Amino acid sequence: MARNRFFIDKIEEETVLAGDEFRHAKKVLRLTEGSEIVLLDGSGAEYGAVVSRVEQDRLIVHVLGKTGESREPNADVLLLVGALKGDKTELVVQKATELGVGRIGVFSSKYCAAYMNDNKLERLRRVSREAAKQCMRSLAPPVEYFSDLEAALESANGYQNKLFACEFLKKNKRELAPLNGSCALVVGSEGGFSEEEFARAEALGFDGVFLGKRILRAETAAIALLSVVMYGLGELR
Ligand code: SAM
Repeated sequence: MARNRFFIDKIEEETVLAGDEFRHAKKVLRLTEGSEIVLLDGSGAEYGAVVSRVEQDRLIVHVLGKTGESREPNADVLLLVGALKGDKTELVVQKATELGVGRIGVFSSKYCAAYMNDNKLERLRRVSREAAKQCMRSLAPPVEYFSDLEAALESANGYQNKLFACEFLKKNKRELAPLNGSCALVVGSEGGFSEEEFARAEALGFDGVFLGKRILRAETAAIALLSVVMYGLGELR
């Protein structure tokens, strides 16, 4: 199976790769006529294709049809994480994508010190696409930004399991394995949560999750909780 994968909005029998995907194909991967590739349109389907022409600023590929392959998880998991300093949010987006998350929300909250802007959000979306290609997923998890915790928590309405990693709990309010159904997970930023924020989450149906007596860094907590949940859902077996 071809490992070179490209996201493209519209797939037709003769499809054009231009812009960033073209530059990656030509300059990094050095694809030539006859190279086999996979095209992804974000619907979850994969299309086998062959490069038919390499031009100055675009690549023409001939699409052979759907491959019928998919490495998408059965589980529907939303990860909500506080905005983190430096490139830590990127790390979380990359690892969460590899682990099979379905959607990612980044939020600001009371003790959150990092900020978000359009460039940072676009960068996170790019990280999601690159990670999806690298781990051979057919979907790049969408990344959204919520300027307050309330909006982030409300975005989890309808999820069957709602879990809130809370550093000041003394024990779990919920067993994590086995798990069934869709899951929404919340992990705080470096500053953690206030008692009022946790109380609000509980009022919206979230169960507090305790990840042990050590305080984990936010990025460790996000990756650890997602891993445990994916295991509980049967996705890591
Ligand atoms: N500033 C907080 C403090 O001093 O206690 C620590 C926040 S921690 C670095 C960031 C986030 O990771 C927390 O808000 C929580 O969501 C999660 N977290 C870290 N350790 C945890 C634990 N032992 N149990 C549950 N959640 C934890």
